[in-house]
Amino acid sequence: MADYAKIIEELEGIAVEDNPALVKQKSRDFYWYSPILKEELDNVVGDLVVSPTTEEEVIRTLKVAFAHGVPVTPRGGGTGNYGQAMPLSGGIVLNLINMNKVKEILPGRVICEPGIIISELDRQTKEHSGQELRFHPSTKQTASIAGFIAGGSGGVGSITWGGLRDLGNILRLRVVTMEAEPRVLELSAWDLQKVSHAYGTNGIITEVEMPLAPAYDWVDVIVGYDDFMDAVKFADTLAHKNGILLKEVAPIAAPIPFDYFTRHKPWLKEGQSVVVLMVAPHSMEAFLALADKMKGDVRFRSDTVESMKGIPHAYELAWNHTTLRALKLDTNITYLQVQYPGPDHVEKVRVMTELFPDEVICHLEFIKFDGHIQCAGLPLVRYTTKERLEEIIRIHEENGCPIFNPHRYTLEEGGMKQTDQVQLAFKKETDPKGLLNPGKMIAWENPDFDFSAGKNYLFPGLEVLS
Ligand code: FAD
Repeated sequence: MADYAKIIEELEGIAVEDNPALVKQKSRDFYWYSPILKEELDNVVGDLVVSPTTEEEVIRTLKVAFAHGVPVTPRGGGTGNYGQAMPLSGGIVLNLINMNKVKEILPGRVICEPGIIISELDRQTKEHSGQELRFHPSTKQTASIAGFIAGGSGGVGSITWGGLRDLGNILRLRVVTMEAEPRVLELSAWDLQKVSHAYGTNGIITEVEMPLAPAYDWVDVIVGYDDFMDAVKFADTLAHKNGILLKEVAPIAAPIPFDYFTRHKPWLKEGQSVVVLMVAPHSMEAFLALADKMKGDVRFRSDTVESMKGIPHAYELAWNHTTLRALKLDTNITYLQVQYPGPDHVEKVRVMTELFPDEVICHLEFIKFDGHIQCAGLPLVRYTTKERLEEIIRIHEENGCPIFNPHRYTLEEGGMKQTDQVQLAFKKETDPKGLLNPGKMIAWENPDFDFSAGKNYLFPGLEVLS
């Protein structure tokens, strides 16, 4: 057991919290979306929360932690879904939310600290010069920019701009290493892949430079269809229209909208599927012309309702907010993350939807992927057992629809089921003792782990807790 009294002493001048209830609160994220992770991670808790306000304080904290051999798990808003910010080996939770200043806003770019909440960042860039982030997670109101980079993938705006791993969608990061004498590294271009979506396992991000796009007063629109596949075809046709500027295109199957989008209920029709959209104001006329041609039933427009008071943004109906809205009313719901590789993505959606009537309810997000319009899915699943969930995953994969498993806490099992050698090599360089966010990179913990054996990885630290 580390000497935390001594550690607190050595961190004098930096905000430290050891009240067990508060430490527990900062040791959680949205892992409970998954009944499997809920069971596995429920007992995870850190020993200390350290909340630096400057890069210098981050460096001091890492130096002390390294000297004591104490794990450090970085945390932003704590909105990750797979226990990403949960300290599987205890130790220090490094709460970066107080490093929240915007440093400079320039044409097409912003430089800021890691912990700024994304909606606040967008507010400041919009007010400064009519600019906004190219895309953001649907948790914009609560997530931090560095948490998005280290834990997220894409979101609202990805229909035009692609995802975080696309070259050019992050410009530069400053990263502090976990060594006896922590170094500060500047990463750009290909090097960004070392830390983007690495769950903070190989460095602490202390400064972020992101590209910006022109900001618009996006119009929220909901279009209804009696048949879900008509909604998907409309979304696909619209997403391919080069001249219509969109920020969000999400077909969502009945009964999700009417049953779970409670604040929008007055505008929705029972039994209808919908497409949730964000459209640039100057594209509305063209958009409406297409919706009319494709017999879409325009149920809701934020530019024509009397007041938006109490009505959530369209993006808070989409991405993992769809799941959240369902979970609030039905705790037996969980979800999957599905790819429907093109060019026959619409047909793949049809096949998968017909295979699981009522059990897997479709929710798609249209995105630009390597220059091509594609769709990814965050379908809701009426959960029965672990075994059935595994079976549903297997059937998707047998039908050419890979699953990015949201019921796993490791980078590999949640992603491509293989080690990212670039991230692993960087970890060897930046975190020689393996103290940053332990348990999340299998290749570090168990280099011989056989991904083809069909067994889940269990971080030994978790066995101790259970
Ligand atoms: P946290 O959860 O605090 O951390 C995420 C990861 O980043 C952790 O591994 C943490 O250790 C690491 N980290 C945090 N700060 C740093 C740092 N400074 N340096 C190094 N590592 C760091 N994700 C999407 O990509 N798109 C979506 O649209 C989306 N929608 C969501 C909707 C809901 C309702 C929920 C619950 C989640 C959603 N997510 C989505 C997941 C999550 O909200 C986002 O990825 C979010 O951006 C994470 O930011 P955060 O500040 O909450 O990060």
